[in-house]
Amino acid sequence: MEELELTKIEDNETLVDELKLLTPDAEILRKIPTEFDFEKDDAKEWKTKMLETMKKLGGVGLSANQVGVDKRFFVIGDGKEEDAFEKAFFNPLVISCSEEKESMKEGCLSYPGLWLMISRPKQVTIRYWTEENEELIETYEGVTARVILHEYDHMLGYNFTQRASKLKVERAMKALNKKFKKHQRLLKQQSVNINNNKEE
Ligand SMILES: [Zn+2]
Repeated sequence: MEELELTKIEDNETLVDELKLLTPDAEILRKIPTEFDFEKDDAKEWKTKMLETMKKLGGVGLSANQVGVDKRFFVIGDGKEEDAFEKAFFNPLVISCSEEKESMKEGCLSYPGLWLMISRPKQVTIRYWTEENEELIETYEGVTARVILHEYDHMLGYNFTQRASKLKVERAMKALNKKFKKHQRLLKQQSVNINNNKEE
């Protein structure tokens, strides 16, 4: 019989610029990020790096300040491997929103496990610069508009919990806490069981 070979896990520590998600209490998340400077920074490289991080974290949008980068831009994407819809918005400015709104459950990578019903305009018109430093004005609707507006909140130093009523946020946080505690209890129980089995 062939012997099993252990796969050596590649150490990614050499990736100095690995972007790490900050906790929601980080000060940088409450500030308007510094304007993206196309002369100083490589927009294409930032787009790639941010999309990689976003996909790794399993999100559909990520703002630079969420990973501690003080630059005004965000990325969105559907997470697909092929024919992916991926975009970066540098120095964005929302020009107009539809009056018609829609409520949907929303999450945020900075708040793992927290889901809130948020009402947002169905349509948004946004001016921004692409990674090619090209100025565009585009209109989006549906889920894409929602993701853009969610990320745009991060560009203003806000987050989605400020778009819901305090009571709703508190309730959702409580439920999350309960779930977390239950999870911890289960983990504890499992480790007790493992240790008990060890001694036998
Ligand atoms: Zn977010």
